[in-house]
Amino acid sequence: MYTVAQLMGGVWGAGGEGGELVVHDPADGTPVTRAPVATADEVAKAVEAAREAAAEWAATAPAERAAALHRAADAVEAAAEELARATTAEMGKPLDDARGGVAAGVGTLRQYAELAPVRGGRTLHGGHDALDFMTPEPRGVVAAITPWNDPVAVSCGLLGAALVTGNVVLHKPSERAPATGWLLARALDSALPAGVLSLLTGGGEVGAALAGQDGLDVVAHVGSTATGRAIAVAGARTGAKVLLENGGSDPLLVDAGVDPVWAAEQAATGCFANAGQICVAVERVYVHRDVAGDFVDALVARAEALVVGAGADPDTQLGPLVDRRHRDHVHGQVTAAVAQGARVRAGGALPDGPGAFYPATVVEGCRHEMVLVREETFGPVAPVVVVDSFDEGLRCAADSPYGLAATVLTGSMSHAQRAWRELPVGTVKINSVFGGAPGGAAQPRRGSGQGFGYGPELLDEFRTVKAVHLEAPGGGHW
Ligand code: NAD
Repeated sequence: MYTVAQLMGGVWGAGGEGGELVVHDPADGTPVTRAPVATADEVAKAVEAAREAAAEWAATAPAERAAALHRAADAVEAAAEELARATTAEMGKPLDDARGGVAAGVGTLRQYAELAPVRGGRTLHGGHDALDFMTPEPRGVVAAITPWNDPVAVSCGLLGAALVTGNVVLHKPSERAPATGWLLARALDSALPAGVLSLLTGGGEVGAALAGQDGLDVVAHVGSTATGRAIAVAGARTGAKVLLENGGSDPLLVDAGVDPVWAAEQAATGCFANAGQICVAVERVYVHRDVAGDFVDALVARAEALVVGAGADPDTQLGPLVDRRHRDHVHGQVTAAVAQGARVRAGGALPDGPGAFYPATVVEGCRHEMVLVREETFGPVAPVVVVDSFDEGLRCAADSPYGLAATVLTGSMSHAQRAWRELPVGTVKINSVFGGAPGGAAQPRRGSGQGFGYGPELLDEFRTVKAVHLEAPGGGHW
């Protein structure tokens, strides 16, 4: 059992008068973590204490901050197995995936440690006797509020970028993965000056208390769209800059003429990896009528072949969902679609037994306007809509309250070109559901958020820029 401690004002074990929360292993329901819950007063004091540490960290030379982040990456790497096991115990993902998430987090910390000190300002070309330049500065105090679905990778991105650019950070990890957040904070804090990083634990009410504090310069949130909107409202009141990486309902468009078995493999990876609990999971499939029959048959076969089990079991390909509350949400969308005429071809039923398992599910006969298709499900579900043309598929794919990413499987270069030009999303992938070059960053559209949440551009989100004009007094010489 993990016993989590908070970190406030450089002091481990501070606060926690708001009670305690317990996290249960989604594979078997056993308790795995006890974490304190911060009160609103503790949150306010933590922000105040962080602000006091801000000036010194901001004045630390960028190369020194980068060296600290490299040491922090070493510490996270040394704790990698512990972090991966905590992730699996708290949110259920297969252990190898959890290890991959930690490795991605370490890689991101190192990337930011390398990039930040060389990402400079600009010299401007003004009058001959003057000096004009633009210089980046830290924004100050950053609140980072993170989700549970890939807790180390996501947190390392926000925390690494914010810290290395000279901000002090208050991290509020998800109440579904607080031990993972605590282990990460312990590793990072071991390499940083006291007070630069704080850890606050608790549920949405602690996140709301933090996001609503005066004295914050940035609130960075990765999580659901509803929470992101509440944080945007709080930011409008306090004046903090708000950075949002939120939910999605990513489409997969399967064109006529593609190999339906290969397309089904792509769909299965996109829909079922991490039990569908990925922001850029495939949430809806538009398949051309010419290949629909063979595609659905092959997708059903792949769904039924997945090995279901606890994340800690090395054979497991499909772990449980994060908890039963989330499983009810997923199953509710599936049953509503069935009530409206869709047909379950694989899965779709609540299993007996402990934990929050949900089978890989293929639902055919879906229509574009169904909630299962339009809204984020965040479960191992493939809703299939048959379309009669590439145009119709593209139109449906573009018609969404979200705008995170989209994938198109096609052998036609003109369809590929139309797809990347016309889809109103941050990332377009042609012929591969996941992948992409390192360093990629995209701006989510609509309900999926605002601002860069990844890549080198995230460093700029945590900095502001000052323009400076220097002239000698009286037009003469110094
Ligand atoms: P969530 O928004 O419910 O929770 C995320 C964090 O916000 C948690 O720490 C939570 O305690 C906090 N929170 C909850 N209510 C709050 C409030 N009113 N004010 C301030 N903070 C509050 O999201 P989740 O369920 O943890 O994560 C799943 C969601 O995250 C999905 O929608 C998924 O698509 C999204 N996600 C997006 C990305 C991305 O990069 N776009 C990446 C990962 C996950």
